[in-house]
Amino acid sequence: MTSLNSANFLLNLVHFNREIAIRVFRAATEMGIRTVAIYSEQDKQQMHRLKSDESYMVGKGLPPVAAYLNIPEIIHIAQENNVDAVHPGYGFLSERSDFAQSCVDAGIRFIGPSPEAIRRMGDKVEARQAAIDAGVQVVPGSPGPVKDVQEALEFCETYGLPVIFKAAYGGGGRGMRKVTTIEEVPEAFERATSESEAAFGNGALFLEKFIERPRHIEVQILGDKYGNVSHLYERDCSVQRRHQKVIEVAPAPMLPTEIRDQMTRDAVRLAKHVGYENAGTVEFLLSESGKYYFIEVNARLQVEHTVTEEITGVDLVTSQIRICEGHSLPEIGASQHLIYPNGCAIQCRMTTEDPAKNFQPDTGRIEVFRSGEGMGIRLDSASAYAGAIISPYYDSLLVKIIAHARNHERACFKMNRALKEFRIRGVKTNAPFLMNVLKHPKFMSGVVDTYFIDENPGLFN
Ligand code: ADP
Repeated sequence: MTSLNSANFLLNLVHFNREIAIRVFRAATEMGIRTVAIYSEQDKQQMHRLKSDESYMVGKGLPPVAAYLNIPEIIHIAQENNVDAVHPGYGFLSERSDFAQSCVDAGIRFIGPSPEAIRRMGDKVEARQAAIDAGVQVVPGSPGPVKDVQEALEFCETYGLPVIFKAAYGGGGRGMRKVTTIEEVPEAFERATSESEAAFGNGALFLEKFIERPRHIEVQILGDKYGNVSHLYERDCSVQRRHQKVIEVAPAPMLPTEIRDQMTRDAVRLAKHVGYENAGTVEFLLSESGKYYFIEVNARLQVEHTVTEEITGVDLVTSQIRICEGHSLPEIGASQHLIYPNGCAIQCRMTTEDPAKNFQPDTGRIEVFRSGEGMGIRLDSASAYAGAIISPYYDSLLVKIIAHARNHERACFKMNRALKEFRIRGVKTNAPFLMNVLKHPKFMSGVVDTYFIDENPGLFN
């Protein structure tokens, strides 16, 4: 076992968002590991550069997103600078098995699952099959990609409407389309295929029965190199806009104990079945009737990992690094019997989007920045300070605000109080919208489904 220590470097790669780079650098620095950042030409002034021990420009002359996707150059930078391990954060390369493989081939450790596990889990059809093989209930769906409109129509006739078209290689809530009438099928098929082709470079689609009014509940897992897997309880990510998460809660409020027990057991069984190593998330939809179904595995750290850290006290990034070094779960204090939830944590994704203009991204210079702070509040960000330039190049996440309290209701009050303390001038943010959600009686009650935002237009006022 070779530990990463001060003689080693950890290169962190960032795409679209640099807050996770800083999150990772913090963990590495606490562990005595030196850090190396890469940055695009447009990101020269960004904070993640300053939070690393060394930094190198990648993709000179390329547009910003392309710069961070330039695998050969990233590997070259890592080799030139004696980088021992790469943490992919979240974002494009974090789920690219060819990138993980390139790291392995270059003799650099990839802090995440094996390239093969990333490939299998990134293919939603294959991941579904793995779940079935592990005895985990999946949403009724097509056994593989649907070839043409005819096959899609046949599926709808067999399973009934509504159905959802999904990109086999999709992510981030894109490439999905709900279909409620048979007449919509041909157009939905064409559109979803071309959207998936454009967004993911592959138009393959599969179909699932659409689950009405589901709650999105996901289980955090950690696996080591020796076949041990622990779960770190669940997160409720039902507050979504266009299938994208806005607010996440851990543990899921009012979740019956038997459902929690079964779901976490299923997640662990699936992870063991595929020999999953490192951190990952198993996602489920919970129907109104209390049945739940597997939808996918995310083979990386999630944006919302923070709420799990708050309730369990486990640093997930440190755990990822230790696992990559070859430590077992018992050695890093992550055996199942040592993990239990404490209180409730809520994360709000504050974005530079204007709720009054249909969440159009806003750009510019932050002129004034005062944050909400105090007991039980954690802020993870990369560009939340006066003087920061908010560019149009990446996604619009400004700061993740995490509130931890003894129960859900108190966490709501705490979050609302923190949000009220924020003063941001120069760019518009979704803060008013977040506050409306936080004080909504339904959200406060703990149980909301994925329809919540769409059904409450008042949240936008
Ligand atoms: P992505 O990988 O793009 O995040 P997911 O498969 O995780 O896609 O789904 C994202 C969200 O889309 C879910 O949380 C849920 O709100 C909705 N969704 C996905 N599949 C279904 C389904 N079969 N029925 C109803 N809603 C669904």
